[in-house]
Amino acid sequence: MNVEIFSLDKIRRLAEEAKIEPERFWAHRAWYLEWFRKPKVILEGRPPNDSWFVGGLLNIAYNAVDRHYRVNPDGVAFYWMSERGDTRTVSYRDLYCEVNRASHVLKELGVKRGDSVSLIMPSIPEAVYFSLAVHRLGGVLVIHYLGLSEDTLAYRLNDCRSRVMVIASSTTRNGKEIEVKRVVDSLLEKFKTPVEKVLVVKRGEVDTTERDVIYDDVKPRGRVFVDPEAMESNEPATVYYTSGTTGRPKGLYHTNGGYLVALNWSFDALLKPRKGDVWWTISELGWPVWPMANLYTIPVMGLTGVLFEGYVGHKADLFSRVVERFGVNLVWSSTTTLYTLKSLGEESINSGDVSSLRAVLNTGEPLNTGARKWLRDRLRDVYIADAYWMTEHLLPIAATPMGLGEVPYKPGSAGITFPGSSFAVVDDDGNPLPPMRKGYIVLNSVNPAMAKMYNDPNHERMVKTYWSRFPGYFYTGDYGYVDEEGYLYVIGRADDVITKEGERIGTMEVESIAANHPSVAEATAVGYERDGSMRIVVLVVPRAGLERSERLEQDVKAFLRNAGVIVDRVVLVSKLPKTKSGKIMRRLVRAILQNDELGDTSTLDSPDVLNELRDVLSK
Ligand code: ATP
Ligand code: MG
Repeated sequence: MNVEIFSLDKIRRLAEEAKIEPERFWAHRAWYLEWFRKPKVILEGRPPNDSWFVGGLLNIAYNAVDRHYRVNPDGVAFYWMSERGDTRTVSYRDLYCEVNRASHVLKELGVKRGDSVSLIMPSIPEAVYFSLAVHRLGGVLVIHYLGLSEDTLAYRLNDCRSRVMVIASSTTRNGKEIEVKRVVDSLLEKFKTPVEKVLVVKRGEVDTTERDVIYDDVKPRGRVFVDPEAMESNEPATVYYTSGTTGRPKGLYHTNGGYLVALNWSFDALLKPRKGDVWWTISELGWPVWPMANLYTIPVMGLTGVLFEGYVGHKADLFSRVVERFGVNLVWSSTTTLYTLKSLGEESINSGDVSSLRAVLNTGEPLNTGARKWLRDRLRDVYIADAYWMTEHLLPIAATPMGLGEVPYKPGSAGITFPGSSFAVVDDDGNPLPPMRKGYIVLNSVNPAMAKMYNDPNHERMVKTYWSRFPGYFYTGDYGYVDEEGYLYVIGRADDVITKEGERIGTMEVESIAANHPSVAEATAVGYERDGSMRIVVLVVPRAGLERSERLEQDVKAFLRNAGVIVDRVVLVSKLPKTKSGKIMRRLVRAILQNDELGDTSTLDSPDVLNELRDVLSK
């Protein structure tokens, strides 16, 4: 669809129209996809009992592969590069052949419509082949993070009931080898799971067990064709687990039809991709961002994706070298990666020619103004876009949709209501608040991108978790406010809000100031109770190469005080406690300071961070 360029007012009107007449709005957007049978009814029921594009039949892999293979077989579907510098190019013809081969093998292993298949891989072309193969057969794709602990993975395999797993035997991340197969073997020995077969994409020599099927041994050599299953729009397509920032990760599913329509609309409006565009999504596979781009949008739109295996911060020059090498036009990145670029310094941007770049889209956390300005100053003609969304609602809640028109940037804000979604800011009792008043961010959207919980057929858990805190609204768990022009400011997680002397302070309000200090790479603010009163500690990671000193701590404290923020302590650390998707787990800092239970730490990226925290916080 060609989106015309709108004024800000017109975008607001579009959002209003979508809110009043969701069926009409979404009916027009079903045509991003090719349907085997057109939907009969656009919307049935109300969330969480809603069904979309009812009766429509389609197949995700067919939309991502077959229809482009027919018209553009030589077009590049993906470029791949590893942090070591190896590369591969995958055309749409290759993609078509490989997805069919992978589908054939999965079918031989008994995978059929409705079966869940678990996948653990780094960002390599085979990850795309097998994911799309699962969809070709009508299965439910569940991608897990690399490096989840054994018990967490065992829990998830049971939760999503996968009989078949597909893995790559190993990968390298930030120079370290991760032996995926060894971890999987060990957990399957120790824990009871439904897994019967493990299909292994071999990278080097591996030991095999009876469960294993080595892909190279069974892969058809010639051409094969596997019929794409005609899926009803509302059948589950994929299960995601939330990041685990605020508690135990929740398992949610998105559908074959509505989800795909919503994502294609989202990215059309956010980035306005053009034919031939090269788009790099900097994310690990386990975070929804990777599949959203590399499975459900880039090939569905017939674009070219960049798959990067490893850690982009491994070497300071990697980011700009990848952009130059593949002529990247669009970058979608986690907030934490953008902070990494800033902390690596000039080399991260000027080691290669980045003039092909048109937009950089941030997602994951509120992007602090310091980092945004740093990027802005270095990528002058590049649109720095933002999109605030959550696993449960994979249509942006607020964003700067440059594909629709010029949305002027406002420091600290993720943008305006994204057409198709709708939010409100409410007080403790669920009453809507006027502009500039801080409160809880809730959703009153009716759209096809709202997930449902897996294993929850009557939506009881869904209602309990999301719909009961503020009746009539879906609760995001976030805290913020809107300004007079409808810009939304996410200022922190509601659980992390700091109440001091009657005032409620969002963590972002403190962090954004701290991050403006020239010696600070990253900072996080945490409120905690001690001796009956609320205190604030700010953890600071100094810029690369800077020495840690008590003076710097005092300096940052004074810097904050000059900006009107009084904190009790500033503590220097080598890294912040983050989830695998790079979100700061403030609750762990609070738990250590208050001597509470740590709670769920299954998605904590480097568990050794806890020792450092205990050590520095006890001083
Ligand atoms: P859990 O729900 O398990 O605690 P999580 O909320 O971090 O984990 P995700 O669904 O990955 O899991 O993240 C969604 C959250 O990320 C949002 O609720 C919001 O707090 C934050 N977020 C995402 N993008 C942005 C953005 N662009 N600006 C501000 N906040 C964002
Ligand atoms: Mg959440």
